Amino acid sequence: MSYSAPVRDMKFVITELAGLNAINKLPGCEDATEETVDAILEENARFCGEVLAPLNWSGDVEHSVRNADGSVTTPKGFKEAFRQFAEGGWQGLHFPADYGGQGLPKLVATTGIEMINSANLSFALCPLLSDGAIEALLLTGTEAQRETYLHKLVAGRWTGTMNLTEPQAGSDLSLVRSRAVPQGDGSFRVFGQKIFITYGEHDMAENIVHLVLARTPTAPEGVKGISLFIVPKFLVNADGSLGRRNDVFCASIEHKLGIKASPTAVLVYGDDKGEVGEGAIGYLVGEENRGLEYMFIMMNAARFAVGMQGVAVAERAYQKAVAFARERVQSRAVEGSAAAVTIIRHPDVRRMLMTMSALNEAARAYA
Ligand SMILES: Cc1cc2nc3c(=O)[nH]c(=O)nc-3n(C[C@H](O)[C@H](O)[C@H](O)COP(=O)(O)OP(=O)(O)OC[C@H]3O[C@@H](n4cnc5c(N)ncnc54)[C@H](O)[C@@H]3O)c2cc1C
Repeated sequence: MSYSAPVRDMKFVITELAGLNAINKLPGCEDATEETVDAILEENARFCGEVLAPLNWSGDVEHSVRNADGSVTTPKGFKEAFRQFAEGGWQGLHFPADYGGQGLPKLVATTGIEMINSANLSFALCPLLSDGAIEALLLTGTEAQRETYLHKLVAGRWTGTMNLTEPQAGSDLSLVRSRAVPQGDGSFRVFGQKIFITYGEHDMAENIVHLVLARTPTAPEGVKGISLFIVPKFLVNADGSLGRRNDVFCASIEHKLGIKASPTAVLVYGDDKGEVGEGAIGYLVGEENRGLEYMFIMMNAARFAVGMQGVAVAERAYQKAVAFARERVQSRAVEGSAAAVTIIRHPDVRRMLMTMSALNEAARAYA
């Protein structure tokens, strides 16, 4: 079944509840006019409905596959869809124009988060993680790091990941064991294993910028000894071009119950498989031992987006339920009918559909 973005409902939330015409008087939000928002909603609805939604089921059936050399192939159509996503400027909607974004308020970008997740949640996870990486670098990266990584991340030419989880460190990140050894030239060599890394390896972008939690040799035990590092899949040359393949490789991808097109990767750092010698080359973000604090920038971006996934999936479920209720013929009408009618005619079915719709609208407004 196709997906049709609830553009009218979204517009109502933006203009009537959130007050777009007051928001676009704020400094930096002037571009968020009603006309611009209308155009964004319409075009994004088209892209999500026509390009992403048709790949949802086939992507889940086909799923992402790890190849013998550690590369990962995403399902048919994903790479091309991501190219269109990037060219449409969708990754950069709410990021600063200084880095190639459109500088719109997150209120406007949130409609896109809902649509993309309704259309194809597996696909949506890639930009979701890039969002977090961009926010973390915007707030904590040096100017040189921002210049090196943000333009390409915002343009969707590169994607970002968040590398927190290790086999023994899930909910409790104080147990993180990955190591980062200083090299004396400002860089570090990172060693360790990360698991469950969303889009940790894939074929949709030219480079992947991993943001990795690890410990330096002098770090104290526990959460106060964790630092954050940038570890690009391909090192970046001074002119911005891609350099040597870094020593971070995908050992496997998880077998999941759903969202199977999204490669959830086990990543091994420092196995001497790249072109840089042993140890993945990484660069400290912000100050040493403040990694957990910076990680929360990514986590909070992810939490917000995962909340929106709830709205998105509920909306898609509602659309499916309405379509089924319009099609399925069962039982005579309560007011009497010669033959069985479609179940949408039954008052209790209508009540349930209206409850779904009301809950979705409330959740959207709340977000
Ligand atoms: C699809 C998917 C994508 C993911 N993507 C990423 C990613 O991109 N990057 C990344 O770093 N990680 C990622 N993760 C990992 C995710 O962050 C971890 O799964 C999460 O941190 C929980 O860790 P765990 O699975 O080891 O569960 P555990 O920590 O083993 O917890 C198991 C259960 O015990 C409960 N529990 C644990 N400790 C306590 C306690 N003290 N009190 C009460 N209850 C407790 C937990 O709530 C949970 O219900 C992903 C996971 C999934 C499933």
